[in-house]
This record gives sequence, C-alpha cells and structure tokens, in this order.
Amino acid sequence: MRVVPLGVDVGLFPLESELAWQREAECRGLGATESRALFFPTRGESVDEARAICERCPVIDECLDFALKNGCVGVWGGTTERQRRRLRRDRRINARELVHPIA
Ligand code: SF4
Repeated sequence: MRVVPLGVDVGLFPLESELAWQREAECRGLGATESRALFFPTRGESVDEARAICERCPVIDECLDFALKNGCVGVWGGTTERQRRRLRRDRRINARELVHPIA
C-alpha cells in the first residue's frame, strides 16, 4: 500500500488533520505548491530544504514511524523513500537475528 500524505492538495497536512501529532508538525499549513516542491521532489531534486524543516520538527519520530508503517511517498520524518526502505530492511534483519541469534 502506498500512502500519499493527507491533504496533499492543500499542504502536507491539512489544518483539520485528525492525527494528534500532525497538529505539532513543522510542515503543517504549508501551501500545496510549497509542500509538493519540498517534500515530493522529482527524481534528482534536492531534499535538503525538506530535511532542514524536519530536523527542527518536534514530531519527527512519530512522522517517521507513521511513514514506515504506511508506505508513504516523499520525505517524511527527515527521510526519503529509499532511506525508509533501507530502514525497514534493517529492522527485519535485526528482528530475525533476535529470533535466530548469530553464533
Ligand atoms: S518530520 Fe518533517 S514531514 Fe514529518 S511532520 Fe515534521 S516537518 Fe513534516
């Protein structure tokens, strides 16, 4: 399942967002054009500005967790989709090692 952020047409998160942590988001209330440009770059475009916003966001952990669980596209929790794929893979490996410890 691939999840496009809530309210992508009005900004990363709509002002009437239902998720409590989103109400604290640094990116909350950004306009649609700015959100798309920063958090949904096309291939090869920089995500530095989005990451800078995420780095000062008080809910970065909640955001990253949500994106990992929901297969979000774009920059969430200061990470790109590629970084989140790697995180999910590493977490699966770590979980397997807990079940079957390496001697
Ligand atoms: S971590 Fe980034 S994408 Fe997530 S809510 Fe905060 S500013 Fe928005």
